[in-house]
This record gives sequence, C-alpha cells and structure tokens, in this order.
Amino acid sequence: MQIEVLGSSSFIPTIKGSWSSFLINLGNRDRILIDAGTRRLLGLRKDVLTVNHIFITHRHSDHIMFLGALLRRMKRNNRKKPLTIYCPVNAFYHITGFIRFYNPKGIPEFVNFETFTPDEPEHIITLPKSNTEIWAAAACHTTMAAGYGILQGNTKVVIVPDTAPNCKTLLALAKGARALFHDTTFPTAVHSFAMAKGHSSPEGAGMDAAKAEVQTLVLIHTSRARYRDAQNLVIGAARYFDGDIHVGEDKSTFTF
Ligand SMILES: [Zn+2]
Ligand SMILES: [Zn+2]
Repeated sequence: MQIEVLGSSSFIPTIKGSWSSFLINLGNRDRILIDAGTRRLLGLRKDVLTVNHIFITHRHSDHIMFLGALLRRMKRNNRKKPLTIYCPVNAFYHITGFIRFYNPKGIPEFVNFETFTPDEPEHIITLPKSNTEIWAAAACHTTMAAGYGILQGNTKVVIVPDTAPNCKTLLALAKGARALFHDTTFPTAVHSFAMAKGHSSPEGAGMDAAKAEVQTLVLIHTSRARYRDAQNLVIGAARYFDGDIHVGEDKSTFTF
C-alpha cells in the first residue's frame, strides 16, 4: 500500500503544513481517505475525486474542514458511484453540517454514512479487490475519536492523528504493525500537558511505537510552527524507540 500524507499539521497550520488527511492507494483501484481536513483535497486530482471510502477519525474541524468542498467537487464531476463515510457516532452531526455548508442543496445523493462507537479494535470493512481490511479502535482524545488500522495481507499500518500516548485500545490495534502514524502535537517540554489535552509529544509517540513493537514510526499532526527543524521531532521520539522514524510532511509518501 502507498500512503500519501496530504495534510500533516496539528490545529495550527503553516504554509507548508495543512490539516489532517491521508490518501491511501491499496492497489487494484481501491483508494481510501483518512480524514479530510486539508485544502489539498481540492487539487482536482482524479485519484482523490474517485476514492472509494472516507474514514473520519473525529469531529474536530482540523479533520473534516474540506470534506464538504470535496464532495461538491465530486458532484460537479458527475460522480454516481456510491461513497461511504465512516465516522464515530458523535461526529455525524458536525460532519453533515460541514457538508451542507458547501452543498446548500443537500448532501450529494451518492454519499452514505456508517457510524460506530470506537472501543476495542473492531473490524469496519473488507475491501476484497485489494485484499484489505480496515479496523478501528478508540483513541484517547478530548472527544470520541478513532485510530484506523489498514490490514493488507500480513502488512498492518495504523494511523492515529489525535491521541494521548499509552492508549490501551490503540496499542492493541498497533501491536506488531509495519508502521504507526502517530500524533506528535505538542513539544517535548510539555509532555504531561500534551497528555492532558488528549495529544502526544514526540516522546509519547516514541513510547507507543516501542510498546506496540512496530517497525516504523511516522510522526504526524505535528506543530511545525513550534518545531521548525523536523529533526528535533525525531530526536524526541528516538529517546524511546529505536526503529525507523520519519516525519510525515505534507506531500510525503510511504510505501509498505
Ligand atoms: Zn482533535
Ligand atoms: Zn487534530
């Protein structure tokens, strides 16, 4: 699978870093989005306009801001193929509000919703063409939130933009994963403050990667306004995790 980071920023975006979104190409024309916070979704890319499923982690604006505009583009592009949006149950009201803002005539007819209550790791959907299962587990955030696991054959990748570290359900989802994309919102110096806010520091991400025994850690939901040098993020995580560590900048891609 190939994962393109469309938006890597925490809630204070920068010129280079936009809000949360990940485009995942699973092969055999299966493509999914996780989160829809970034303006980059409006780039008129065919591979974005034709995604099969959209998985929203939670209701905060930095994860859903451009969903409505994307759906409007899809409608203008004469999309007929069904599109399912998966989200935690308490996000439904916010998401449909954002969609209606950009689609005043109503939610486009090709859109369906599936809501769930994230808890222990749970199977959400199987995509048979690409031999992929999507799983969800509860994140430890300030509102109901999910992390998503993409299981393709023996390869598991877990993406969790917003969470405090040491979140039992997410550690279970990420156990033995090929890669973990993990919240890195707050700087090193305020690790305990970050946890109280339902977010993580580079150290927290490193601890989780070590506990879950993953191979690769990708730092996301980063604050580049605070960390101008990405290498400082890596140094924080490397205090606890000795596997591969990368910073998931906007437009970076990872293949697993
Ligand atoms: Zn959030
Ligand atoms: Zn966020």
